Amino acid sequence: MSVALLWFRRDLRLQDNPALQAALDAGHDVVPVYIHAPHEEGDWAPGAASDAWRHRSLAALDADLRARGTSLVLRAGDSLPTLQALIAQTGAEAVYWNRKYEPATQPRDAAIKRTLREQGIEAQSCNGSLLFEPWDVATQQGQPYKVFTPYWRNMLSHWRLPAPQPAPRALVGHPVDSLALDALQLAPTLDWDAGFWTHWQPGEAGAEEALSVFVEGALRGYREQRDLPDRVGTSRLSPHLHFGEIAPWRIAHALEGLRSAATDADIDGYLRQLGWRDFSYHLLHHFPKTPTDNLNPRFDRFAWTTPSATQLQDWQRGRTGVPIVDAGLRELWQTGYMHNRVRMIVASYLCKHLRAHWSHGARWFWDTLVDADLANNTMGWQWVAGTGADAAPYFRIFNPVTQAQKFDPQARYITRWVPELAALPVKARFAPWQFPTELAALAPGYPPVPMVDLSTGRDAALAAYRQTG
Ligand code: FAD
Repeated sequence: MSVALLWFRRDLRLQDNPALQAALDAGHDVVPVYIHAPHEEGDWAPGAASDAWRHRSLAALDADLRARGTSLVLRAGDSLPTLQALIAQTGAEAVYWNRKYEPATQPRDAAIKRTLREQGIEAQSCNGSLLFEPWDVATQQGQPYKVFTPYWRNMLSHWRLPAPQPAPRALVGHPVDSLALDALQLAPTLDWDAGFWTHWQPGEAGAEEALSVFVEGALRGYREQRDLPDRVGTSRLSPHLHFGEIAPWRIAHALEGLRSAATDADIDGYLRQLGWRDFSYHLLHHFPKTPTDNLNPRFDRFAWTTPSATQLQDWQRGRTGVPIVDAGLRELWQTGYMHNRVRMIVASYLCKHLRAHWSHGARWFWDTLVDADLANNTMGWQWVAGTGADAAPYFRIFNPVTQAQKFDPQARYITRWVPELAALPVKARFAPWQFPTELAALAPGYPPVPMVDLSTGRDAALAAYRQTG
């Protein structure tokens, strides 16, 4: 039987895996390989939370492979020579993988494909993570979209989902030496991530479980509840999607099967979010400098401030004195996740009230989110900062107090993550500096005033914006 290497990257699953399926369909036995090569990711080597997740996800994938008769071969080093060494060792005739779209790894993968083919090795890449390839959706003039709604309309007019594919029942094992997972040093040496794993189960089984929990629970009411951070009103599938533990089309199929008059709006609302995810990859592919550069050049003239180390640290650790902002940043620190609505609020406070360039926040999220994803994170930050595609206009500045009053009206989310405010009356938990006597008596450890006064910060941001015009 001929052998093919199956190069796992961010497609850590066995069902709905187009590269695996293509290798098996071509009649190959597969040798599953994961190569640890963070130095090939340019400035965006995975952050610490991402590594902690990857450690567990690789362990889960290896267990799933072992249950089918083979195991995951782990290597570390440059990808091309590592693949070449494995080809020599196994006699592989082909290498299959699912595509990645980051600016550093796209050219690397293209060069690897070219070199392997020149050497007579079949090299085939597949779409394992998106509903549409970034280059498959274009305006009538053949240009990339910069606005979501027409992009989404175009996507819907070509809507066709790949059929779900079960995982293979058995795979033929070929003995190949492997590094131990611990040798990749992905898991933290100090167990700062201990609190994460009561919230998450990395791996394909964890992704399936999260999907069933969502389908049986929060899906009904998603459109209304997705903005309320005090409850589980969303799917929490983002890290599973990022690591490719589940295909977006499997989620879409699961939802399509539940259509009824009662669920239509929620299902459409959810699919639209998957559309935003595809859109972020579309943008990253066509505008590969956006992880660091403003998409809208007007903001290159904007008077961003340079936050001091202390200011930045107070924001990062949730000590700004604005409760909803602090709650979000503490949720992130303790669980590796933050609710989407709160991501927008904390980002807005940093980019607008503090006037720090969005890249300060994007870097922090990159290191601390378990779902850190270059495409989604870049789009999210540029959207909030007003510098990106289809962005919130800069002059629409979120007021974190009214946002909290609207989306967390009982201050339950605030109190969960900023428990020192629990002794204050609910109405004082949104803007405690307006209740100085209660604050000093009942929560003396909490900052007495916000690090930037809300109206001063807002006025300064608007003045700076006017000067770019
Ligand atoms: P659900 O509401 O259940 O949505 C389902 C899926 O749709 C998500 O898992 C995600 O893959 C996708 N999705 C949802 N909202 C968005 C969105 N606004 N943009 C793109 N895709 C979306 N998401 C990441 O996956 N990684 C990031 O690094 C990331 N950084 C962000 C930074 C900022 C400043 C902001 C405002 C948003 C960011 N997001 C990021 C988008 C969004 O916050 C998360 O995808 C969402 O909170 C994940 O929770 P969920 O899976 O329960 O979402």
